[in-house]
Amino acid sequence: MFAKKLLTWYQEFGRKLPWRGIDNPYHIWLSEIILQQTRIEQGRSYYEHFVKEYPTVIDLARASEEKVLKSWQGLGYYSRARNLHAAAQYVADQLDGHFPDTYEGILALKGVGKYTAAAIASFAYRLPYPVIDGNVYRLVSRLYGIYTPIGTDQAYNEFERLLLNLIDKERPDLFNQAIMDFGSIYCKPTGCDCENCIFCQECVAFRDGKVELLPVRSQKIAIKERFFYYIDIRWDDCLLVQQRQAGDIWQGLYELPLYETERPIEPSRMESEIMQVLQNWLGAPPAALELGPEMKHQLTHRTIKAQFLTAKYDSKPPKIPEKMRVTRPNEIKSLPISRLIDRYLSKL
Ligand code: SF4
Repeated sequence: MFAKKLLTWYQEFGRKLPWRGIDNPYHIWLSEIILQQTRIEQGRSYYEHFVKEYPTVIDLARASEEKVLKSWQGLGYYSRARNLHAAAQYVADQLDGHFPDTYEGILALKGVGKYTAAAIASFAYRLPYPVIDGNVYRLVSRLYGIYTPIGTDQAYNEFERLLLNLIDKERPDLFNQAIMDFGSIYCKPTGCDCENCIFCQECVAFRDGKVELLPVRSQKIAIKERFFYYIDIRWDDCLLVQQRQAGDIWQGLYELPLYETERPIEPSRMESEIMQVLQNWLGAPPAALELGPEMKHQLTHRTIKAQFLTAKYDSKPPKIPEKMRVTRPNEIKSLPISRLIDRYLSKL
């Protein structure tokens, strides 16, 4: 009954999206990775760009990581792009370019979790694996009055068992798309129109007046602050950039030379401290040091507080650290850079 009602609703109100109604597993995979932590409106243009730029998994595998990161620029969570690239290389080299066609095979790809594996398996191959994302947790927890905190293995298993009974075995692709759409369009985090919902007769949370209390979330991870001092070092028509290394955010992206501190630098000490940093890096202080904009950048578990400064040298500094690279203002835009650096450059 649930599946029938849901599919009837979907036929009329479901979203029409470029990655729906197709069975190319590679394109479906692209869309799913792009849409993780990304709004549909934003993800759509990236999906179209990737399909055009890398029409097959082999094209993606053969592109350089730098090019893939550049294509990804602005989407955030760059590990998704690196995993996408690594998984494409695995498919191209180890699987002869054949995208896996079982749930387990898809799940074995780098960067693919249970949700994504279920989505690809059901959309591309009509395998009856239920997708469980935030929208599904919300809808199902309210409908059935489930108070298990989501985001845990226990919750995942409990919701999966229930959904395996509900899923339409003939059209798991449509069922999965419908349940996600209904959750996001209708059963919203706040302010859903329960009176007119097709499930209001059966919905436990609506009956009990507990809609806003569900789903129960497991404890939030504390957000940590980081203090970045980006120094825009320039002489003639040159500036310095460096590439971020493994084991931290934005791996592989380029940025201005960065000085990070545990705590914010006192304004009265800023000039002398940065001058000393530049002396250590480049073997000489700049002719002029200017304070630039201050910018905040929010990541899931981090708040980056960035202060930009400009250091002007009359000529090339005596030494350039190995990790830094000399570039030109018009070249930096062609490198993969974080949104924070992009925002700064756009302000100039
Ligand atoms: S009645 Fe309200 S809470 Fe229940 S499923 Fe419908 S929209 Fe969601």
